[in-house]
Amino acid sequence: MSSLKTIGIIGAGQMGCGIAHVSAMAGYKVHIYDLSQDRIESGLATINGNLARQVASGKTSDEDRKAALSRITGSADLNDLAQVDLAIEAATEDETVKRKIYAQVCPVLKPEAILATNTSSLSITRLASATDRPERFMGIHFMNPVPVMKLVELVRGIATEESTFSSAKEFVTSLEKTITVAEDFPAFIVNRILLPMINEAIYTLYEGVGTVDAIDTAMRLGANHPMGPLQLADFIGLDTCLSIMQVLHDGLADSKYRPCPLLVKYVEAGWLGRKSGRGFYDYRGETPIPTR
Ligand code: NAD
Repeated sequence: MSSLKTIGIIGAGQMGCGIAHVSAMAGYKVHIYDLSQDRIESGLATINGNLARQVASGKTSDEDRKAALSRITGSADLNDLAQVDLAIEAATEDETVKRKIYAQVCPVLKPEAILATNTSSLSITRLASATDRPERFMGIHFMNPVPVMKLVELVRGIATEESTFSSAKEFVTSLEKTITVAEDFPAFIVNRILLPMINEAIYTLYEGVGTVDAIDTAMRLGANHPMGPLQLADFIGLDTCLSIMQVLHDGLADSKYRPCPLLVKYVEAGWLGRKSGRGFYDYRGETPIPTR
């Protein structure tokens, strides 16, 4: 474990729950905050289910699962983050939402607490400027699903102090993840490369070059990807994919990053992928069915 003992998680969605899961398994006390008690309950149920699956597959013991769960608390009261040493914001990928959260959470946090964001694409320096502690602010970008994926990108803002960076590095290392350091450019390394590929797959669908099944099969068997790009887009969340493309398009001012209109349409329909039950596949039945 690192010198940080208590971790606060803001946002009990897929990423917040995953970060809480791996932190509790590594021995940290974890407190999760979200907007409503319902979201907290469903987040805790997800963590419970994922831990149980790890026990069933022999990756962890039932004793460790119980111990990890006992270290996790959650509430819809921001004041409960007052004792955390590190708060990781994993809320919706929307700069306005994140800025609002920082305005509310900064007065609650201990002055020496580190605030990190799990943003997939937004400028760390710009987000830091919306806090009272740019020197103790940085990006700690976990990959989805957090318990499975080995990589974490660390991103400094212009004002991030070395002691902040080394604490974050120590924390991430204690989770047995591999670190890669990225500069503060739109979407960092992984998503700068991955999202244009996914967006291109959506253009391929939009232009009728292939069906959902044809595109995913082509990339799985033809490029040896473990998952097709449209299946991956559904897994990430189409709202998150769209936000990242918009950040790349705005931040790099190059038309090659324009989000595919079909991606926009799916998000407008509320078809956000797995998390909403429908995206490029329909997940409401027993097996996912392509929607095109
Ligand atoms: P999600 O939609 O599953 O969860 C977002 C959560 O944030 C929801 O539970 C929502 O209630 C909560 N939230 C919204 N406004 C809030 C507020 N004001 N206060 C507290 N909670 C609030 O999204 P996600 O996939 O978990 O993504 C979260 C963050 O992680 C985003 O910044 C995203 O870019 C990043 N990320 C996502 C992935 C991915 O593959 N999905 C991978 C790496 C990083």
